[in-house]
Amino acid sequence: LIENNAKHVWHPMANPGEMRENPPHIIEYGEGVEIIDIHGHRLLDGVGGLWNVNLGYSCEPVKAAIIAQLQKLPYYNAFRGTTNSPLIELSYELCQFFKPEGMARTFLTSGGSDSVETCLRLARQYHRANGQPERTKFFSLKKGYHGTHFGGASVNGNANFRRNYEPMLGGVHHLPAPFTYRNQFETEDGAVIAKKIAAIFEEEIAFQGADTIAALIMEPVLGSGGVIVPHETFFPLMREICDRHGILLIADEVITGFGRTGSESGSRLWGIKPDMMSTAKGISNGYFPLGAAMISEKLVDAFESTKGALGTISHGYTYSGHPIGAAAALATIAEVKRLDIAGNAATLGVELLSGLQALKAKYEIVGDARGKGLMAALELVSDREKKTPADKAVVQALYDAAYEAGVMVRTSGSNVIISPCLAIGTEHVNRILSALDTGLAAATSALNTR
Ligand code: PMP
Repeated sequence: LIENNAKHVWHPMANPGEMRENPPHIIEYGEGVEIIDIHGHRLLDGVGGLWNVNLGYSCEPVKAAIIAQLQKLPYYNAFRGTTNSPLIELSYELCQFFKPEGMARTFLTSGGSDSVETCLRLARQYHRANGQPERTKFFSLKKGYHGTHFGGASVNGNANFRRNYEPMLGGVHHLPAPFTYRNQFETEDGAVIAKKIAAIFEEEIAFQGADTIAALIMEPVLGSGGVIVPHETFFPLMREICDRHGILLIADEVITGFGRTGSESGSRLWGIKPDMMSTAKGISNGYFPLGAAMISEKLVDAFESTKGALGTISHGYTYSGHPIGAAAALATIAEVKRLDIAGNAATLGVELLSGLQALKAKYEIVGDARGKGLMAALELVSDREKKTPADKAVVQALYDAAYEAGVMVRTSGSNVIISPCLAIGTEHVNRILSALDTGLAAATSALNTR
């Protein structure tokens, strides 16, 4: 397997040459909130798959729903003349689940990138249907991540995801990230940072012209960019500015939807109603590739009252409404509600964050510890005063030691990201913290022996 992996597999988000030198762990089984590699090494999955296996690997109702749907109708499309029952039931459930966010219609996709792309395209179409075809530009945040399709990658705030693929979609502007630990504002005060970013947004709107801007897309808590938790005033401020200028607000809830932040959605966490939401990941517990783009009543009105080409959604996938995915999602949402998964994430998130802060107090190498619910990160530094990011070998030392100690974590630059299944208990939080303790000792000695 290792040899064939090196010869035949191109890994996403990886350098093929480096991958050869440092082969990936091959995961063979999943059980509860744990995974087991081909050598039989058992680990607590501190990454929760990829922020998606929220209910763990043994969620029997989701497995049973998939099997039952597979027997009944393994596929049928949902284009104009046909549809299928699980798709309709799921759309109803999603509109119920995200009713507090004001969501009124569901467009099913096969993942997060598809959901983002759908939102971006429908945002332009909405303005066109509304008689403002010149509203085509998009705003987003630096350090934001919105998937890998051309539209989503264009609004990605990390230049690494764009560099090799330029030219990207034109008319995209990246605002600063609401990041207290590292920013251009010389302050760590989140409320001040929120106001400064809002002022920059206002200036840009005045400069570019509100009537050229389609939407602002943001993650309620920035995930892949290193778990950046904005100040509580940030989202409401940006919502208010968007409203005032007729700019749509797209909440990219691919990670934050379905409980990860300790609330059913990141928008609910911050008390705002977006115009559109992109979701995926936890929607089907990671067992089937699925996503959903959701729109509010405001957009529904524009599309449904518009006859002809302007109101026709000329956008769709072969898998827009896969019945197996929809069945998996229906069972997942039922479990998310039954187990109050968001409530559990909120409670355990507090325990996790206080443990991470204790590790920061213990290890000089930890520059920052942050998180919301069960999405958290440690940022490793070689100099705490100067906030110099720790280099790759130091971060890898932590990863390897944590792996040996039986916990899978994710590293991204100088960040160590922790996003376990949401169905964990205190004992699992303690196992994660203990493996991180071991990992930080290893990273510290890697730093000192360079
Ligand atoms: N948006 C956000 C906020 C994400 O975190 C991700 C994936 N990490 C995506 C979009 C893209 O989702 P996918 O990988 O399912 O295409």
